[in-house]
Amino acid sequence: MNLLDGKIVSQAVKDRLKTHTEERLLQGKKAPHLAAILIGNNGASETYVASKVKSCAEVGFTSTLIRLEESISEPELLFKLNELNEDFDVDGILVQLPLPKHISEQKVIETIHPSKDVDGFHPESVGRMVQGLPAFYPATPYGILLMLEHYNIETKGKHAVVIGRSNIVGRPISIMLNKNEYPGNCTVTVCHSHTHNLKEICLQADIIIAALGRPEFLKGDMVKEGAVIVDVGITRVPDASKKSGFAIKGDVDFNDVAPKSSYITPVPGGVGPMTIAALMMNTFKACAAKD
Ligand code: NAD
Repeated sequence: MNLLDGKIVSQAVKDRLKTHTEERLLQGKKAPHLAAILIGNNGASETYVASKVKSCAEVGFTSTLIRLEESISEPELLFKLNELNEDFDVDGILVQLPLPKHISEQKVIETIHPSKDVDGFHPESVGRMVQGLPAFYPATPYGILLMLEHYNIETKGKHAVVIGRSNIVGRPISIMLNKNEYPGNCTVTVCHSHTHNLKEICLQADIIIAALGRPEFLKGDMVKEGAVIVDVGITRVPDASKKSGFAIKGDVDFNDVAPKSSYITPVPGGVGPMTIAALMMNTFKACAAKD
């Protein structure tokens, strides 16, 4: 078993971006600028946004953190987004999800200008990705591709089983693994909550992407010897032994699955850091596209 170490790979990606950013500055060009909107006081969202802002500083990007009250109205939020769309200095905009119930996630996603859509959730970004055009890939699936690439994982002709079909992980990674370039050219099966015989399907997989949000769902007896396992899940599970009161669990029962796998991501320290590295990549591209 080999670890797919997201901390190492994300650091390598960030080191490259830092160098490219320094080169930009030497050429008299601006540093990439990410604007992040955080609404309310959700603990997990606070942590995610703080990591994104910290990563911006590490790679030399400018970042602006905009904190808004939970009670902000939808029109007020959309107005703020339009201001950021028009601000030439801002290259990428992200709104940390989930949103308060009274705000439409779809409206927010569609209000961000596609040229600043560094989360890759806008229908234009998704459409371009599906058609194989240059696009902002959603950060988590993009991070997974960067990780497979870093470890030279063979994907051509492999059977990839994706568990989960969300717009942010399962569906886009299934499309990306299926495209006609490396990493890709997989035969992809997408499973979801209505899939029958999930265990039998997983046992046929050379690569499994687990993105369903059920802690330790994937067990050793569901995995073929030598499979590559990518665990996207992040669930906070109560744990009195931790200072925070919770432990982070992935969708894979790591101790059970790892001995059978050829490569496996840990949780934490696997896909999570790669998501942020991919967001930084998208922000850099958004900035460079304006040169
Ligand atoms: P989601 O709830 O939107 O989608 C879950 C998907 O899993 C659905 O398509 C559902 O059909 C499927 N599913 C649920 N139960 C199933 C079952 N028993 N068998 C087969 N399929 C089943 O979740 P999401 O937003 O895609 O996130 C999935 C997990 O990944 C969550 O734990 C989330 O926190 C995590 N996540 C991590 C990162 C990261 O950076 N590491 C990023 C995004 C999401």
